[in-house]
Amino acid sequence: MKLDSYWLDTAPPLLSACEGPVDGGADVVVIGAGFTGLSAAQALGKRGASVTVLDAGRIGGGASGRNGGQVNTGVAQDFVALAAQLGMERARACYRAFADAVDTVERLIREENIDCDYLATGKLKLASKPHHVAHLEKTAALIRREVDTNIELLDRERIRDEVQSESFYGGLLQRHGGQMHMGKFTVGLADAAVRHGAKLYEHAAVSAIVKDGAGYRITTTRGEVRARQVLIATGPSRHGPFGWYRRRLAPVGSFIVVTEPLAPELLARVLPKRRAYTTTRLMHNYFRVTPDARLLFGGRARFTASERPSDAKSGRILQEGLAAMFPALANARIDYCWGGLVDMSADRLPHAGQHDGVYFSMGYSGHGTQMSTHMGQVMADVMDGREARNPWRESEWPAIPGHTGKPWFLPLVGTYYRIKDIFY
Ligand SMILES: Cc1cc2nc3c(=O)[nH]c(=O)nc-3n(C[C@H](O)[C@H](O)[C@H](O)COP(=O)(O)OP(=O)(O)OC[C@H]3O[C@@H](n4cnc5c(N)ncnc54)[C@H](O)[C@@H]3O)c2cc1C
Repeated sequence: MKLDSYWLDTAPPLLSACEGPVDGGADVVVIGAGFTGLSAAQALGKRGASVTVLDAGRIGGGASGRNGGQVNTGVAQDFVALAAQLGMERARACYRAFADAVDTVERLIREENIDCDYLATGKLKLASKPHHVAHLEKTAALIRREVDTNIELLDRERIRDEVQSESFYGGLLQRHGGQMHMGKFTVGLADAAVRHGAKLYEHAAVSAIVKDGAGYRITTTRGEVRARQVLIATGPSRHGPFGWYRRRLAPVGSFIVVTEPLAPELLARVLPKRRAYTTTRLMHNYFRVTPDARLLFGGRARFTASERPSDAKSGRILQEGLAAMFPALANARIDYCWGGLVDMSADRLPHAGQHDGVYFSMGYSGHGTQMSTHMGQVMADVMDGREARNPWRESEWPAIPGHTGKPWFLPLVGTYYRIKDIFY
């Protein structure tokens, strides 16, 4: 079993990163080469700006290359809760922003000719307990009435046509969105940014951003660069001068296992529609089939940061969960196991704008493959003076109470979720 991301391991090689020291100047420096940063670099480069992208590790080595491979519409929390939290008008705007984000991913794949196995399969949310069905019904009715008619509620009989498992009692199908190969999308987006003139630097961790005349001086482990504007696209970075952001995000670990390739007739029986799936538990699971017929199965497993050797522990918990959900796959060999950090905000909504003159976009809370890509494009517009393009411009973003930058509270939250899951 490889303790590595399947997406990164099976992606084509990235040939477009710069060698040599980081130096000189650029119109824009983007810090972080995940989907937010790469998408912003593509959009800014396309309109003629000189762009330098700096990443502490490998391009796509953060959440963008380590996720569940789903490109879903819909917000992180369910729509009933969101409407209660924000009011109906803002909840509708959020939902639409996520639908727009799926459209952005599909447009970029088309326009930049990115070969990333995109499939518009929709997402099926599966009810893990009988009484969760009633909540899905309420959610479906509200979504259909207020914002999206392209959804369907499936009862227990219909669920049998979708997944061969005794674990589910119904489901909500949202047809917009789908799934893609995240490693191939990363490389395709990075190559597109470079075609539009961006310079990408790997292993260039940013340690300081200093105001310098009308612009900024950015110090990295590979040298220094000056820029007129800076975009921070670092997700839940645990190093560098990002304390203000760290106090607003909880870096929650999420973990994934991927099986060996499965026999076509077995897959046709167990998951005939090959959609993107999630479950309704608080400690939920998400899963899908990869382009080469493996099952990718993920979940929170443990409330801990992702660290390489201990990811295997989370992998064992996931393997047990997989076997319980799909007994027909209980003996499938696990070929990959890895973890990543979700940039969870307290309201589970993205946050983007400007702080101390520097632009930022993050806080996608586990629903970011489409939203980070979308926000890269949006932030290019915002940095060009079109602030109204930012769907999150009006939301407040206070620090998480008691959060000093180190997420000491995560084990407590995990225990709370586990207990709540028993009764919910
Ligand atoms: C296990 C897991 C499963 C997920 N599944 C899904 C899913 O199925 N669907 C979905 O929609 N979303 C999912 N997400 C969330 C989604 O992957 C993210 O929201 C999205 O990729 C965020 O992109 P980003 O570019 O903002 O951040 P990232 O991809 O995390 O990129 C940030 C980059 O910043 C760099 N960086 C950090 N600090 C510094 C520094 N000091 N100097 C320079 N560079 C720095 C990092 O090295 C990193 O490469 C999942 C996340 C995880 C972890």
